Amino acid sequence: MNNFADKAELELFRDNVKRYIKEQVEPNYEAWEKEEIFPREVWNQLGEQGFLAVDIPEEYGGYGSSFEFSMVVAEEFSRANFGGLGGPMMVHSDIVCHYILNNGSEEQKQKYLPKMVSGECVGAVAMTEPGAGSDLQGVRTTAKRDGDDYIINGSKTFITNGQHCDVVVVVARTNLDVSGAKGTTLFLVDADTKGFSRGRNLEKIGLHASDTSELFFEDVRVPASAILGQLDAGFAVLMGELQRERLALSIGAVAASEGILQETVNYVNERQAFGAPLSKLQNTRFKMAELATDVRINRAFVDECMRSFVEGSLDVGTVSMAKLSSTEMQNRVADGCLQLHGGYGYMREYGVSRAFVDARIQRIYGGTSEIMKELISRSVLSQ
Ligand SMILES: Cc1cc2nc3c(=O)[nH]c(=O)nc-3n(C[C@H](O)[C@H](O)[C@H](O)COP(=O)(O)OP(=O)(O)OC[C@H]3O[C@@H](n4cnc5c(N)ncnc54)[C@H](O)[C@@H]3O)c2cc1C
Repeated sequence: MNNFADKAELELFRDNVKRYIKEQVEPNYEAWEKEEIFPREVWNQLGEQGFLAVDIPEEYGGYGSSFEFSMVVAEEFSRANFGGLGGPMMVHSDIVCHYILNNGSEEQKQKYLPKMVSGECVGAVAMTEPGAGSDLQGVRTTAKRDGDDYIINGSKTFITNGQHCDVVVVVARTNLDVSGAKGTTLFLVDADTKGFSRGRNLEKIGLHASDTSELFFEDVRVPASAILGQLDAGFAVLMGELQRERLALSIGAVAASEGILQETVNYVNERQAFGAPLSKLQNTRFKMAELATDVRINRAFVDECMRSFVEGSLDVGTVSMAKLSSTEMQNRVADGCLQLHGGYGYMREYGVSRAFVDARIQRIYGGTSEIMKELISRSVLSQ
């Protein structure tokens, strides 16, 4: 059994997302980039539009749509070159909501999911620490049992939605006598809990409209009912949810590349050099041919992965290939398109400059390209 979406409904929904982006995001995005954060009310607006966590079941306040609808949102924000909004939405809708849906207790699902669909509650996931990124077994944040409660101490960094979040999925060690893989637990921590604080909004080279922060936990007391999934089984939850996260990043990478390529087609057809449009020069033609081929091949592969995901057969090695290939490709495309814009490509006024800086993080978060190669090699060599 699979759950493929009706194509006509999907395209209607896509038109709505595009319209919203054109009318509400485009006119404001430059100001948000300068502020280095988009306003909190935008989350409520996105919820009212029905763009958050669209594939959460109706019993938890969602629309019960298929995964493809959620990916339409990711695709269109990426294609329009508004990754500073699309990235935070993906963390909220495609990561945190699904952690809760797939691993939460009934009480946790009822408490958080309806408000996450409406945008009243913004989610973040806090794995990375100053001393532990790729190697999550090195996490040093602890949660110690105290009666019926747990006391969390530690700090996290680079957390998307760090400034706006209302609930954070926190990765903490609950058993220091065993390996991190066996002694780690996830906790749902409300941002108004005593002892929780946000650090500054970190200054990044790209994705300026999104907020990325350090988070601090100083004797944060939470009840045992705040555990997400099972005690000491946090790694299993993380591993189980990573496929969706990496697939969503891949889909965003391909859509962003398609978007910037189209913008560059328009540019090279208009910009004149030596008495003719740039598109008449053989270098431009060949470069565009190479980039378009690169994008098309990745589109085919990512679409195949999306179908496997919906059917429930997407494996770790394959999704890692998609993340590696599509995000590396996105960077090649952004760089190639910027070059074809000449000096204008280096100006913030031109979208291609933003596509270039925003693309760079795609090879790092959600597991670096090197970690993807590690995972792919394991699956290839074990065959
Ligand atoms: C804008 C932004 C948003 C982010 N959002 C979040 C978030 O919401 N939540 C969250 O928890 N984290 C988030 N992160 C953190 C991100 O996931 C990490 O930065 C990433 O996993 C890499 O970890 P690190 O930075 O500690 O680098 P390190 O792990 O220190 O890696 C440094 C280098 O060593 C390489 N390396 C490490 N291990 C290996 C290996 N085994 N083999 C080969 N090479 C290796 C890496 O590939 C990299 O090139 C975000 C980061 C950024 C910049």
